[in-house]
Amino acid sequence: MLKRIDLRDDPASEAVDRALLPRAELDVEAALEKVRPICEDVRHRGTAALVDYALRFDGVTLTRTRVPAEALARALEELDPGVRAALEESIRRARTVHAAQRGEDHTVTVVPGGTVTERWVPVERVGLYVPGGQAVYPSSVVMNVVPAQEAGVRSLAVTSPPQRTPGVEWSDGLPHPTILAACALLGVDEVHAAGGAQAVAMFAHGTEECRPVRLVTGPGNVYVAAAKRLLKGIVGIDAEAGPTEIAVLADGSADPVLVAADLISQAEHDELAAAVLVTPSEALADAVDAELATQVAAARHRERITAALGGRQSYTVLVADLDQGLAVVDAYAAEHLEIQTEDAAGVAARVTNAGAIFVGPHAPVSLGDYCAGSNHVLPTGGCACHSSGLSVRSFLRGVQVVAYDREALAGVASEVVTLAEAEDLPAHGSAVRARFEWKVPPRT
Ligand code: NAD
Repeated sequence: MLKRIDLRDDPASEAVDRALLPRAELDVEAALEKVRPICEDVRHRGTAALVDYALRFDGVTLTRTRVPAEALARALEELDPGVRAALEESIRRARTVHAAQRGEDHTVTVVPGGTVTERWVPVERVGLYVPGGQAVYPSSVVMNVVPAQEAGVRSLAVTSPPQRTPGVEWSDGLPHPTILAACALLGVDEVHAAGGAQAVAMFAHGTEECRPVRLVTGPGNVYVAAAKRLLKGIVGIDAEAGPTEIAVLADGSADPVLVAADLISQAEHDELAAAVLVTPSEALADAVDAELATQVAAARHRERITAALGGRQSYTVLVADLDQGLAVVDAYAAEHLEIQTEDAAGVAARVTNAGAIFVGPHAPVSLGDYCAGSNHVLPTGGCACHSSGLSVRSFLRGVQVVAYDREALAGVASEVVTLAEAEDLPAHGSAVRARFEWKVPPRT
């Protein structure tokens, strides 16, 4: 069922060429041309533009974007008790993990009287994007809001596309009621009904109803990614999250039923989602294919899953041994990587490139999607080789505080002057000299 890429004859220990491992084609550059006028329009017309795009792209009529407080309260009141309990557990675990990420300010004494302190300061105001096109993700509310709150961000706003939810007429034109309820559970009181590029522009430029933010985080589709690329600089961004990905590194000891279930669990997100199996066991690859056929036929979203598993981005890579398997998963740098091998912990310790690593048969990616305590907003498209997932650190800035007394400066003044002259920037040296023998720069 999955296409096969056979690398068994390639030299096992060498770095694997990333070009051998295709990914979904997400044309952010083409989407840029589409979102540019949308972002400009929001900059000039504010809420009026957002109202127009809600009608055009989401098919709903709005008069304003800010969700009234009564709607947040009502959504929480009407939330299914089972969903509420599950969300509360997800929040509790995420808080436990993210609270521990907040580092202390750290002072280094470079010389007596000369210190450099790194002070961690939260971003003042952030905008959190929660997707809501093909599916709604209350879990993404948790994954965005908890790290921001644990970082100490004082002002945060959530946005999610406006919907029409069958059977819940009072919420027409608002984000999905479960999204609103999750916001209410977390104590978020500023929520907007806006999706796509126009929502990112609302955060970046501000509107009558939404003060501009300093940083936008959260996953979204290609239009959200394109708007983030376009507006980066005007506003900070976390990453351009693309379609979700799972890679499973498995040997002959893995259970094909579990491997297939986990591949399907991520393929269910999106037709462009990637499901990749890396294994030295052809017997396991065959058994996983057989399982996929059975499990996909019984899956609710089988059309989407079949498209994802049949796309160029999903395949099995046959490798000579686990060493070559590790070289493949490091080259691929998956958003989610499962290790289902003997000594899974030992194998996982050797991985260097992955957004998150799930170790052994009892840590499926879906645990991390909801309730592991880890964050599910992770780098996609190979960006895991240079970037991290969302965390408390995403919402903090390290400000360096330099404090030197006269003696400490005197101890290094001649080196500063020498380096300044070597760079032909004599005024730099003069600024140091002025504190000692000269009060004015020497004449040149
Ligand atoms: P979305 O909220 O990202 O996008 C919906 C919005 O796209 C709409 O409100 C509309 O404004 C805009 N849009 C739709 N068609 C348009 C068009 N033709 N032109 C301009 N704008 C248009 O929701 P989605 O589409 O469901 O995408 C969500 C993505 O986020 C999926 O790829 C999913 O896999 C991903 N996701 C990732 C994570 C993660 O943690 N990595 C978590 C959840 C979801």
